[in-house]
Amino acid sequence: MNPPHDDVLIIGGGAIGLATALALLDAGRGVRILEAGAVGGGASHGNCGTITPSHAPPLAAPGVVAQALRWMFTPDAPLYLKPRIDPALWHWLLRFAARCNPRDWRQSTQARAALLNDARARLADWVGRYGLQCEFEEEGLDYVFRDPRRFQQYMDESVVLKTFGIATQVFGGTDYEREEPAMLPGVAGAIRFPGDARLRPDRYVAELARVVRERGGVIEEQCRVDRLEPTPDGVRLATSQGERKGGDAVIALGAWTPAFARRLGIRAPIQPGKGYSITYSRPARVPRHPMVLKDRSVCVTVWGSGFRLGSTMEFSGHDDTLNATRLAALERGAREFLREPVGAEVHERWCGWRPMTWDDLPLLGRAPGQRKVWIAAGHGMLGISMSTATGQLMADLMTGRPPAFDPSPYRPERFA
Ligand SMILES: Cc1cc2nc3c(=O)[nH]c(=O)nc-3n(C[C@H](O)[C@H](O)[C@H](O)COP(=O)(O)OP(=O)(O)OC[C@H]3O[C@@H](n4cnc5c(N)ncnc54)[C@H](O)[C@@H]3O)c2cc1C
Repeated sequence: MNPPHDDVLIIGGGAIGLATALALLDAGRGVRILEAGAVGGGASHGNCGTITPSHAPPLAAPGVVAQALRWMFTPDAPLYLKPRIDPALWHWLLRFAARCNPRDWRQSTQARAALLNDARARLADWVGRYGLQCEFEEEGLDYVFRDPRRFQQYMDESVVLKTFGIATQVFGGTDYEREEPAMLPGVAGAIRFPGDARLRPDRYVAELARVVRERGGVIEEQCRVDRLEPTPDGVRLATSQGERKGGDAVIALGAWTPAFARRLGIRAPIQPGKGYSITYSRPARVPRHPMVLKDRSVCVTVWGSGFRLGSTMEFSGHDDTLNATRLAALERGAREFLREPVGAEVHERWCGWRPMTWDDLPLLGRAPGQRKVWIAAGHGMLGISMSTATGQLMADLMTGRPPAFDPSPYRPERFA
């Protein structure tokens, strides 16, 4: 039997592969997604589900290197680097460190804001248009501080954010405690980002998959792609379920991208930035808005169906063990801020790999040196927030339509 021949083969069924598939279907293209595990089972599963134009500033900021070095030997710090010999990691870190200056910070912030702002508006549209049942609420997000110095530092940053179209509202500590009865006393202040939103990410990816299938897209689960070969009229893939052929291929493999791309001679310097979450039944007294407990970098998201504490950033390679110390740090952080920091029942303890590039921008576009191979990967801490804009941008680039914003900052060639 001949292998199926599809229009576009999408390799990887996370939020990015799914959103790209949906936008391509809408543009009249045919798609087949090939996913090694269960659809949405990678980083897109247990993340915090916040939709955050507020997070436009990149991780590489002035002062971060000194902070990271201080944290390096603190196993429960929000940012942790497991000391080890790994040339790709050290090269990545050096490039990351070189970007911790005001000029590069501004350049990444601007490019991230363009993608995030487009994605935020487009998400509301998709939720309505496709009827995505994913507990999406446009309720903003709060940064909460107990440390007055840190609060002041972020107030200064929020002034800069306004120039990128990101609105903020500032609260003094007592005002915020009155506003949010879920907090323990001792809040120094809070910054609200009214333009942010939240959703339940496992529901979001399941709903994207539903709509992709309803519109004629094919999703093959438990189908690992081992090799990609360009052919005169497209691409051929060797998969764990046999050969697949297509006109174009999109590599949407998140943190798994570098090894796969390397076999094609494509450089995609993405490090897995491991993060954790714990999902509980919903406590009686929960915050009214999703929030980041900034002094401890713990994100709190509340849905009708549950309550999640998440975050921490660990550079420890492709290690998928659940580290009890780092999980405990999430609960410890929450206990400092919240009257009811955990729910009665634990539903899931989870970790996932954020696909981190050193400039904190994804790779979006045609793969260098390839005619029919495209990349959509490297969304770091913001792949859910950026998913709709990424899907639309990929579909526009692949169908030759003018994109909604300048795609040049995300060109994969910048790493070639
Ligand atoms: C703790 C934590 C909290 C986060 N919170 C947020 C948040 O609040 N908001 C936000 O916007 N982002 C958040 N993120 C980041 C977000 O989760 C990621 O950026 C996003 O999920 C990346 O999506 P993706 O589709 O690129 O990758 P993934 O979802 O990882 O998808 C890649 C897929 O490729 C598959 N795959 C791998 N190898 C192969 C192969 N050879 N063949 C076929 N398939 C393969 C994998 O099984 C996987 O399903 C968070 C991440 C973490 C870890």
